[in-house]
Amino acid sequence: MMNVPLLISPMLERAERVFPKKEIVSCTPSGLHRETYAEMGVRARRLSNALQKLGINNGDRVGTLAWNHYRHLEAYFAIPSMGAVLHTINLRLSPEHLAYVINHAEDRILLIDDNLLPLIEAIRDELTTVEAFIIMTDQSELPETNLSPLYSYEELLSQGNPEFVYPKDLDENSPAGMCYTSATTGMPKGVLYTQRSIYLHSMISGLADTVGLSEGDTCLSVVPMFHVNAWGLPFAATWFGAKQVMPGPMMKADVIANLIQSEKVTVTGGVPTIWMSLLKELETKSYDLSSLRMLLFGGASAPPSMIRAFEEKHGIPVVHAYGMTETSPIVTVSHLKSYQKDLPLEERLAIKAKQGVVSPGLEVRALGPDGKEIAWDGEEMGELLIRGPWIADGYYKGDRSTDSFREGWFHTGDVVTIDTEGTIKIADRTKDLIKSGGEWISSVDLENAIMAHEGVYEAAVVAMPHEKWQERPVACVVLKEGYREEITAEVILEFLRPSVAKWWLPDEVIFMDELPKSSVGKFLKRALREQLKSRLSM
Ligand code: ADP
Repeated sequence: MMNVPLLISPMLERAERVFPKKEIVSCTPSGLHRETYAEMGVRARRLSNALQKLGINNGDRVGTLAWNHYRHLEAYFAIPSMGAVLHTINLRLSPEHLAYVINHAEDRILLIDDNLLPLIEAIRDELTTVEAFIIMTDQSELPETNLSPLYSYEELLSQGNPEFVYPKDLDENSPAGMCYTSATTGMPKGVLYTQRSIYLHSMISGLADTVGLSEGDTCLSVVPMFHVNAWGLPFAATWFGAKQVMPGPMMKADVIANLIQSEKVTVTGGVPTIWMSLLKELETKSYDLSSLRMLLFGGASAPPSMIRAFEEKHGIPVVHAYGMTETSPIVTVSHLKSYQKDLPLEERLAIKAKQGVVSPGLEVRALGPDGKEIAWDGEEMGELLIRGPWIADGYYKGDRSTDSFREGWFHTGDVVTIDTEGTIKIADRTKDLIKSGGEWISSVDLENAIMAHEGVYEAAVVAMPHEKWQERPVACVVLKEGYREEITAEVILEFLRPSVAKWWLPDEVIFMDELPKSSVGKFLKRALREQLKSRLSM
């Protein structure tokens, strides 16, 4: 067989040649912007050529600090197709982390959304490797700034060669993209994706038993393009010729609902917190979201109560997926098997609330506290290990977080059970598990049980140190409006009693106005633990 390297440029070329009329629709401050794959192909080549003229060579890192929109999508393909490395920067990082990741990646050029410019201006003096700033606007819209040298994206494109030819002799194992983990602990860690890993990961997004993306889809990535490449959706959707919808900076529930309705979105993906706000929106206003065939939940566990609300109340099919920065990210996707489709509702919901089965192409196992493989009985808990061609084998520049990469396996730090069907359930992250009297309590299970109460908007459960039991669970709960008077801690505990073991009941239920969230919208349990500690010591 031909040993053709697996590269990103043919993915773009296919979209341009085979689906020239298909659209990328982006929300911009001045309204919806529409571009076709034919136009995108030309603009991407112009960008590659312009970057080359600015001195970008094979392997050089080019950072993007941008929301989801067509220009960012052009950069997604232009940068790796020319052999450079697309570093998508998480715009919600703290200034300290932002400067750290840009310097650590050694970004030579930054592409920046004009409304994000202040983030870079604030850290300009700390950046040691950046040689030029490209603002993603027209020349006439260039904002006042002391950043220099400064270019407007459109001006550069106008000077770029539309006939630029992508190199086809790149090594498929050469770096093509990079993301940093969102640093729930310590400094962010860099993960380098290769041409080959992005190609293979994109391909599996087209499998019917994963996301099943195809030309007929309209794909809305609510998950930001700086968060694990928006789960790879923009790469796959372009390759397969799907219409794409990009929310720009307007990641609000009403904007998303309107976009789904007006553009007839079929597939969309985001973290549970954003879907929670969509549910809230649907409670107050009605939209026609019947075009949706898949609302993809990932990045954190989807509470069964939320799945039920979407499916039963609004008729929107929910699919749960699991992964992380180190895994490109897709590891598992949760679909009912053919013989599970007629099970009673409660059983179906319970399966859908699990994270699903391993994708073709990957292997998983889980090791218990004794280092031995756990039984796939849905009971034993162990740390999930993964291997496969789109799984990192180390962090960029070798910052190995001690033992995450050992003996050919990536150790995820996620504690799971695996049942006889091979369905994986994330019980917790190792550091969030509550170790009470030598036994483990899953904070996720407790959260899901609490969130099943109709008056609860959000809940996070964390471990608090305990003299006798070592640790005990404490629940932090945000109530829906209208329930604040009637729900007390005792009401929550009463509600939990039938569904959880007695020793799992939280020692305390604390009501809060909001829960601290990470840069990608997940509960920030570390911050919550700190808050509680200072509160309890008051
Ligand atoms: P970070 O590791 O920096 O927080 P990631 O977005 O890579 O950023 O987070 C990956 C983690 O998120 C996983 O290790 C897992 O703990 C959690 N996670 C991802 N998807 C799910 C899911 N569907 N259910 C439960 N947890 C999930």
